[in-house]
Amino acid sequence: MKKRVISLASITMASLLWACQATSEEVNLYSARKEALIKPLLEEFTQSTGIKVNIISSKADALLKRIQSEGKNSPADVLLTTDAGRLHRAKNAGIFSVIRSEVIDQNIPEQYKDSDSQWVGLSVRARPIMVTKSAPSITLSTYEDLANPELNGQICIRSSSNIYNQSLVASLLAVSDEELIEQWAKGLVANMARSPQGGDRDQIRAAAVGQCSVVVANTYYLANMLSNAEKETDFAAGSSVTVIWPNQEGRGTHVNISGAGILKTAPNADNAKRLIEFLASDKAQEIYANVNFEYPVKAGISLHPILQKWGSFKADTLDMDKLGTNNASAVKLMDRAGWK
Ligand code: FE
Repeated sequence: MKKRVISLASITMASLLWACQATSEEVNLYSARKEALIKPLLEEFTQSTGIKVNIISSKADALLKRIQSEGKNSPADVLLTTDAGRLHRAKNAGIFSVIRSEVIDQNIPEQYKDSDSQWVGLSVRARPIMVTKSAPSITLSTYEDLANPELNGQICIRSSSNIYNQSLVASLLAVSDEELIEQWAKGLVANMARSPQGGDRDQIRAAAVGQCSVVVANTYYLANMLSNAEKETDFAAGSSVTVIWPNQEGRGTHVNISGAGILKTAPNADNAKRLIEFLASDKAQEIYANVNFEYPVKAGISLHPILQKWGSFKADTLDMDKLGTNNASAVKLMDRAGWK
């Protein structure tokens, strides 16, 4: 009799568990974005869809490694990361499935999507030139001008191991001859005020204390410094530079993206697609771009006031794919040019 009670109980437990699994909708997000910043947005997704988001946050390259080591047992549904170069690496690693979605096709311009629909861009990150307000008059309107000998000893830029610079060089390779770009890179290296060190914010800080007068940096770093009233020195450093949008007469300013792909092993693939569609929606685009002072991928979304001050600019319309496919050549070229 006792035995029977136990088995009934276990049957009840099993069916309860099954019922729970059938009704609890969730999606597992591996994210290289700051968790505190995207959490409110994801909570909004949960509220409107009933789908719970489990976040694993880490550095971009570590997340890809983790997915690869987890293999087919990975619980990951979506990889959310920055830079087209990294999304391309993830695609090459064979971890993504093809995303088919009318919402995404409608909301996200072709240039910000993978040509095989394995990842989609969700925000735009611009990498213009910044000059100090106190700088001697500099004629600088293109990336190509950075190699001008007039700028000798005036440029602060981070290392060639940084993917943002690799993607910038990859974008130049897409429109010009490799030998010419190598000459350009050598000219840029000759113009460096110091051996590359630190991140984008450190270049702005160095310019502010007079180590250099020309900086190449992503705008969200500058916006972050300008919005951080608690860090007065950063606010002052950020206030000491102005943004120059390069190549406005030509192809436009170099931009990159943050974006996402759905894992081919995703246990919750439908929910993964719904999450990416949500991030591409008007409401989410505004919030998602603003959490890190980026630009929306979707047209017609209002910008953060700090970004509005810098004015509108023409962005390079190069396919983001090219940043990935030209990455290896860009890295080798920078190495040959002596870009540390
Ligand atoms: Fe960054």
